[in-house]
Amino acid sequence: MKTFNKAIQDATTPQGALDILKEGNKRFVAAKAADRNLLDQVKDTTGGQWPHSVVLSCIDSRVPAEIVFDQGIGDIFSARVAGNIVNEDVLGSIEYGCKVAGSKLVVVLGHTMCGAVKGACDDVQLGNITALLSKIRPAVHAVEEPMNAADRTSANKTFVNDVVTKNVHLTIEKMRADSPLLTEMEKDGDIKIVGGVYDISNGEVTFV
Ligand SMILES: [Zn+2]
Repeated sequence: MKTFNKAIQDATTPQGALDILKEGNKRFVAAKAADRNLLDQVKDTTGGQWPHSVVLSCIDSRVPAEIVFDQGIGDIFSARVAGNIVNEDVLGSIEYGCKVAGSKLVVVLGHTMCGAVKGACDDVQLGNITALLSKIRPAVHAVEEPMNAADRTSANKTFVNDVVTKNVHLTIEKMRADSPLLTEMEKDGDIKIVGGVYDISNGEVTFV
């Protein structure tokens, strides 16, 4: 598979970038990874990089973005932080990927049974984790069902995964609110911003 270069990046639309990731995830799930020589791609990208997408995902060891989307060296920017939340630094990284380096798509990728989301559901207080989880707490509050407090914990898989999806949506909302630069690019059709959830039981990404 060919390494992304400026000409290919220029010719790729936001929808085209999304299709590339969807096709890549299909290959991953089918255990039919594209044939690519990563060391050749290192050489191809020594002089520069023209990734088609920026993926914001969790640090979870089970969700490496390049692998689950079957992408090579130089294909995507990968921002990872527990619970795939945004702050100023993460937004700055995504803005760099899109505005400076020309990426066409931003994906906020949550995943089922996310440990950070579980921690937020249980309101864990521990070191700097407390401040991190406070950024996920709005998603916990925004999920209305179940009403019974005893069922709103990490022990309830359905609740956890509902919060995962809500967290993806709220993260995108916050991205639009806190990054006028990305919002303008989106309005102008220069980029798309989409959310997805990766299922740790079967490797599939569902775009939400
Ligand atoms: Zn996670």
